[in-house]
Amino acid sequence: AAKGEGRGRAATFRPGTHTALEQRLRLELDLPAAVERGELRVAYQPVVQLSDGALAGFEALVRWDHPALGLLYPDAFIDAAEKGGEIVSVDRWVLREACRQMTEWERALADRGERDSFLLLNVNCTGRDLLESSYADAVGNLEEDLGFAPRRLLLEITESLLMEDPDAVATVLRRLQRGGVRFCLDDFGTGYSSLATLHALPVDRIKVDRSFVTDMDECTRNRELVRTVVELGHILGKSIVAEGIEKPEHLAGLQAMGCQFGQGYLFSKPLWPEDVASLIAAGEPPWQALWTAD
Ligand code: C2E
Ligand code: MG
Ligand code: MG
Ligand code: MG
Repeated sequence: AAKGEGRGRAATFRPGTHTALEQRLRLELDLPAAVERGELRVAYQPVVQLSDGALAGFEALVRWDHPALGLLYPDAFIDAAEKGGEIVSVDRWVLREACRQMTEWERALADRGERDSFLLLNVNCTGRDLLESSYADAVGNLEEDLGFAPRRLLLEITESLLMEDPDAVATVLRRLQRGGVRFCLDDFGTGYSSLATLHALPVDRIKVDRSFVTDMDECTRNRELVRTVVELGHILGKSIVAEGIEKPEHLAGLQAMGCQFGQGYLFSKPLWPEDVASLIAAGEPPWQALWTAD
């Protein structure tokens, strides 16, 4: 598998020096300055087309290079950011930075005379972002400011987001959709979407939660749940992305079901920008061997 972000996930907290509450409060206090001081980073996890192993795009995942605590993953600070309201500026920054980065990579490809690649960018967003009236404008500005076309953006939304203020959220989603943006329903299966909401929402993709994929080779129930979601996608005309693909058995199972896209450590961990640049430059991605082997 590809090298990933390099550092392990250990040692971000020092148990004993802070309680969980102190830690959360501290992060909540530090966060506004973090955005301004440029301490946030974006890692990019490849999204793979399961029929042939082609690179389909990336999901942008935020990290915080905290001056005292080291590299922090979203689990350590996203909750605090949501409670403190800082999530809005974090997500705005991630959206813009990831779009800027994507345009830069594609420009490098074009300069070398490579065929136009069409990579999609997935960016996570929360209810707070969408209920902020300037969000749609911020997305609209990406094309003018950076040359990033909205039809290359897939905003990842969650089921819980939709519960907050369904009508207001739906209005924003439709406005963004008219601008060309598409949506992916993240962590599907962990929330409360009904068939009716699924059908009514302007989502193009459904992402099956990792918890169902991770043990689908051993757990019949989860395998059948994944199969059902893939079939549901076929019926509703939405493509399915499976997250957390870690074993060749997961890949084989998902291919047999006709699942279109996947992400997971079997292909690649989230990558730092310099590694994405080399991946794109290399042409054939390293995980392609999983397809050519048989
Ligand atoms: P998510 O959107 O469901 O992202 C997938 C998470 O699964 C990522 O964790 C990714 O590193 C991890 N992952 C990917 N493949 C595998 C695999 O094969 N096995 C395992 N065990 N894990 C895998 P990460 O980066 O820690 O992100 C956690 C969550 O934080 C994300 O879940 C997303 O909900 C949230 N998040 C990340 N970036 C942002 C952001 O910019 N804004 C907001 N609002 N939320 C974000
Ligand atoms: Mg996501
Ligand atoms: Mg997810
Ligand atoms: Mg998840």
